[in-house]
Amino acid sequence: MKREANAAGLGELPGGALVFNTCAVTAEATRQARQAIRKARRENPDARIIVTGCAAQTEPAAFGAMDEVDLVIGNGDKMKAQSYRALPDFGVNAYEKVRVNDIFELTETAAHMVDAIEGRARAFVQVQNGCDHRCTFCIIPYGRGNSRSVPAGGVVEEVKRLTGNGYGEVVLTGVDMTSWGGDLPGGPKLGRLVRAILKGVPELKRLRLSSIDSIEADDDLLAALADEERLMPHLHLSLQHGDDLILKRMKRRHLRDDAIAFCRKARELRPDIAFGADLIAGFPTETDEAFENSLSLVEECGLSFLHVFPFSPREGTPAARMPQLSRAIVKDRAARLRRAGDAALAAHLRRKVGATEPVLVEKDGFGRTADYTPVQLNNRPDIEPGAVHSATITGHDGLTLQGRLTALDKREPVHS
Ligand code: SF4
Repeated sequence: MKREANAAGLGELPGGALVFNTCAVTAEATRQARQAIRKARRENPDARIIVTGCAAQTEPAAFGAMDEVDLVIGNGDKMKAQSYRALPDFGVNAYEKVRVNDIFELTETAAHMVDAIEGRARAFVQVQNGCDHRCTFCIIPYGRGNSRSVPAGGVVEEVKRLTGNGYGEVVLTGVDMTSWGGDLPGGPKLGRLVRAILKGVPELKRLRLSSIDSIEADDDLLAALADEERLMPHLHLSLQHGDDLILKRMKRRHLRDDAIAFCRKARELRPDIAFGADLIAGFPTETDEAFENSLSLVEECGLSFLHVFPFSPREGTPAARMPQLSRAIVKDRAARLRRAGDAALAAHLRRKVGATEPVLVEKDGFGRTADYTPVQLNNRPDIEPGAVHSATITGHDGLTLQGRLTALDKREPVHS
């Protein structure tokens, strides 16, 4: 976006320009975006302020009505220089400064596949965008549109390029990544893409998947977990709840037993696997008993990394019209679920103490094991990022492992 905005000449404007790429996943995220825009305006009275991203896509009029905002552009246009040229000069009304198109008309994923990079160690490659499901709590499809996939050839080329530039790990991302391929000729599944990347880029050290929907995971993906050592033993699962009735009301496609069976099967295939999961606390109509079913899922699935979302109604979604729980109950249940998550993480960290683990070094001696557990390497804060070295785990502080680098992998290229 920065590159496109600069190509449109925004960088040369007196006062400069600020681009806000907003998130709409919760009402709180959108509120924070508004707050950040107001603050930016106070601190930069002469800058042009442009708002894009999912909150701009789902609530264009609300951002257009903000005096602080000069231009609102949609997700489908934010990667095009010409969109930034649409910046009005003066005297426009709220309606005129909004340039947001219908996201459901988009059929192609942008060719700009690299989402983000972390130092010299890890790069994120977006292989899919949008979602064809309509979970009753979720606003995302209205921000991102229907599911679109990047063809395998393009992804392999991108991973090759990143690996050639010294990245040790590539993470595949998508809004509903396990639906990858559904819109491509022949309808290939995610397992096929994973195989193609590992085969096509033999020099790639680590391939990781971001969040997946376990009920959509195909057999080839599971088989790859078992026999592709470079596919990292870590899956973040979009589980959302542990109670069947609530899962139905959420319009999810799996039941509690499906989640448990998936974790068991994946663990059989890859015993060192670790699971993370998204869980929503306090969904409308959630009884004490239903909540307990989410709580016990942590243990039954063997989850180590929890992302807990206190339910927040998103206007326009079916769940916002269901009978709501009080905010106090929602908060209390989220806190209980987070405590269960903290305990599960501490147990996971404890199990690793004394082990020797391969660690991808990121920055200042910080790195991650194959199953994505964070490690601080106390004896070598100066170690080069991007390489995978062996470390002995000496302890943990409840969040991060403490370790000592014990063997350097001499085959690692050293970056200039
Ligand atoms: S599958 Fe995920 S992105 Fe799609 S509607 Fe459901 S929660 Fe939202």
